[in-house]
Amino acid sequence: YVKDRGKSDYKIFNQDLEHQSLERRLLENALRQGINNEQFYLEYQPKVNLITNKLMGMEALVRWKHPELGIISPGKFIPLAEESGLIVPLGEWILRESCRQATTWQSKDYPHLSLSVNISVRQLEDIHFVTKLKSILQETEFDPTRLELEITESVLANIKSTIPVLHEIKKLGVQISIDDFGTGYSSLSYIKEFPIDTLKIDQSFIRDIHTNKESKEIARAIIKLAKSIGLRVIAEGIELEEHVDELSKDGCILGQGYYYSKPLNVDAFEDFMVTY
Ligand code: C2E
Ligand code: MG
Ligand code: MG
Ligand code: MG
Repeated sequence: YVKDRGKSDYKIFNQDLEHQSLERRLLENALRQGINNEQFYLEYQPKVNLITNKLMGMEALVRWKHPELGIISPGKFIPLAEESGLIVPLGEWILRESCRQATTWQSKDYPHLSLSVNISVRQLEDIHFVTKLKSILQETEFDPTRLELEITESVLANIKSTIPVLHEIKKLGVQISIDDFGTGYSSLSYIKEFPIDTLKIDQSFIRDIHTNKESKEIARAIIKLAKSIGLRVIAEGIELEEHVDELSKDGCILGQGYYYSKPLNVDAFEDFMVTY
């Protein structure tokens, strides 16, 4: 009886796996087609000065509009794009499109705006990355010093082979920011070895910064650390006025989050620029 039971469990398990990998392959094919058929678009989330409320820049966030499945969030397809390598062509498109858009905005009364773009480590491992970045900057006439590449802490800290690439990027004048800072790594020593400009405090510490002692102290420690070693610091996931109060008391003056605005499509971002 036990044996039979085990077998049928195994069968179910197996079917489940087959189902999973079929689903994966379908999604991967859809992703490939999506790239060819221009099903992706970008939204932009405002980054603001918490003290003056001035609009400082925006983070580009990719969206996938599948003809049947509707809008699929990056949390669902970015991991698959990374595993399959499709993040390389997709990421190149994201970089070109966001630089093109930001150049347009800069030439229309907003020259000071800076652009943040999320980059997967998989892209940094592509030997052509720096060449592509350089030609995108030339092609779009985007000022490299106004571009910031965001790289997630958890992956970056574990891959030292990216250090030379980061130095190449810095030589172009482009800035580097560590995304989701505080969640990814147990040792801080890697900060010394990586050419970093900005620490982006993860939203998990901001969410309850006003009610939770630990979150507050962690956020404070990150702000202090950044300042003491000459890095900029920005908070993400600001949803409440209380969050702004706590952060500005602790000396963090840059942030983004739903309190100011959710990520916006191009038209909505242009409205935001005018009315904000
Ligand atoms: P991330 O770079 O840390 O982006 C922040 C995420 O938090 C975004 O989710 C944003 O919409 C969301 N967010 C912003 N403000 C708030 C807030 O006040 N409260 C809450 N609860 N959430 C807020 P999104 O757009 O779903 O992106 C999720 C992640 O997917 C990003 O995290 C990033 O790691 C990745 N991703 C998004 N776009 C790209 C891209 O173009 N390239 C790559 N490689 N990864 C991307
Ligand atoms: Mg980011
Ligand atoms: Mg983040
Ligand atoms: Mg993230």
